[in-house]
Amino acid sequence: MPGRQLIMSFPVTATSHALPEYRARGGYGALAKTLGQLKPQDVVKEVTASGLQGRGGAAFAVGRKWQVVQYDDGQPHYLIANADEGEPGTFKDRWILENNPHVLLESMLIASYALNVRNCFVYIRGEFDLPYRRLADAVEEAYAAGLFGRNVLGSGFSCDIVVYRGAGAYVAGEASGLISSLEGKKGYPRNRPPRLTVKGLYQRPTVVNNVESLSNIAWIINNGADAFKAVGTPKSPGTRLFSVSGHINRPGVYEVELGYPWMKFLDEDCGGVPQGRAIKCVVPGGVSSKVLTGADITNLKLSHEDLWDAGSTLGSGGMIVIAEGTCMVALLQVLMRFYHHESCGQCTPCRHGTGWLHRILDRIVAGDGRADDIERLYYISKFNDGTTICGLGDAAGYACSGILDKFRDEFEYCIEHKRSKFGGNLECLRSS
Ligand code: SF4
Repeated sequence: MPGRQLIMSFPVTATSHALPEYRARGGYGALAKTLGQLKPQDVVKEVTASGLQGRGGAAFAVGRKWQVVQYDDGQPHYLIANADEGEPGTFKDRWILENNPHVLLESMLIASYALNVRNCFVYIRGEFDLPYRRLADAVEEAYAAGLFGRNVLGSGFSCDIVVYRGAGAYVAGEASGLISSLEGKKGYPRNRPPRLTVKGLYQRPTVVNNVESLSNIAWIINNGADAFKAVGTPKSPGTRLFSVSGHINRPGVYEVELGYPWMKFLDEDCGGVPQGRAIKCVVPGGVSSKVLTGADITNLKLSHEDLWDAGSTLGSGGMIVIAEGTCMVALLQVLMRFYHHESCGQCTPCRHGTGWLHRILDRIVAGDGRADDIERLYYISKFNDGTTICGLGDAAGYACSGILDKFRDEFEYCIEHKRSKFGGNLECLRSS
């Protein structure tokens, strides 16, 4: 594991997900400290001071989100851990759920205490089997140990938790879609305002945080906001879990101190690209983040500010490495098929736009591309931007225009020659 300081990682064993081992690592000490020594507002202050940013994609400050909830407004409040993790290339939350579910539960108890929550939820992706079983077992262990339920650790604080399995829709990972699903409806995202922290689950103030975001809370309470800020960069404090896949010798989940040199990470920690091929481009944080070429990332560090300056984002931490020799036309076709399939259909620009993008890519790959197809793809991508309820419509357009911007020549070649520049239309990530 690269970087000086680790927050989320530890040596994984066959039983490290279980309560006795979690306690042996100091687990539930932060909860005892919270309930014994801290007022709810102290917890919110500490988390805000830490500068912890959301790890699910938007990088919104966790403390600022929490501050919107009025502790004593007389309403029930809800906390939801978003464990849907459906962004292609992203599989780091499942690492936490499989190997360290109690850190999520402890952090949720601390957050619930801070936000005056008596009922919290984990919304977990329906396809997750082992992560679900590990989490469900951990919840049982925690109840048996008096960590959930009435009068937690004799403190007078009470909190219950429900683990809810989704049904496999990408949009249900969007916070408002997740809430609709949790309420028993179709997982349709909702227009905002009102913000979910004002009217969320059952129209009550609700905080939805990503699994990794929440899992940092126990460490912050144990070690303090200053210790957290001492890791990473001033604008990107802490560490992040990256799930690395694609053309890479050592794919997997890595914890990296933010600000770590990107190429050093890929070359030394992840073992570089197979057969010594050059990096053509990298999807930095799930397919909804814009691709960057190998040349773009040469001197970049893994921090929010570096990625924003380069026109992309760290997103969900799902890093996909793509080697030279990969056909970007075929790759974009796969991405557009995905967005088209996952569009929930509520918004006209997304419902039709993702379908148009997909079908145009299909015909280019089939050798039937038209001379003005590239401009048409750009037009539709822009048409989607900012005109839809949730970010899916935008993301499809960003992914499309981002790849066209960097690799337009490949699309022109494919339309003119009716075949891929790389010797066939099906040469894609499957080639590895
Ligand atoms: Fe549904 Fe697409 Fe609209 Fe999102 S943008 S709400 S996925 S139609």
